[in-house]
Amino acid sequence: MTAMLRELLKQLFKRPFTNKFPSKRIPESVNGFLEKAEKGKAKINPAIPVPEGFRGRIEYYREKCIGCQLCTKVCPADAIVFLPKEKKVEYHLFRCSFCGQCVEICPVKALEFTKEFLLADYKKD
Ligand code: SF4
Ligand code: SF4
Repeated sequence: MTAMLRELLKQLFKRPFTNKFPSKRIPESVNGFLEKAEKGKAKINPAIPVPEGFRGRIEYYREKCIGCQLCTKVCPADAIVFLPKEKKVEYHLFRCSFCGQCVEICPVKALEFTKEFLLADYKKD
């Protein structure tokens, strides 16, 4: 019990490890706050930098893609669909589990993880 109390007191005087994002104070409406920020009427409290190797939104470099289909074969979530006419692929973010197998197997680095983590949206695509 005393150890717990000691730890509690210690933590009271430490800086928090988390970052208040996107706003330092809770806004009345997060959507409203983000709309204001877009118009330059509110300031976003920046997120802490994401670490190396972070698995954010996947970027697909269409011009690099050679249509080998390896990514479609390893994807466990059916998030990558082959387009036979174009010999390219289509990536569906809403199905992706960010396992990274497609990024690893692509022979021409046409798929790459970005550091983008704000992925919530009203639209699936
Ligand atoms: S990261 Fe995994 S789930 Fe997402 S598209 Fe690539 S293989 Fe599929
Ligand atoms: S593995 Fe790479 S080159 Fe092959 S189809 Fe997928 S994205 Fe294109």
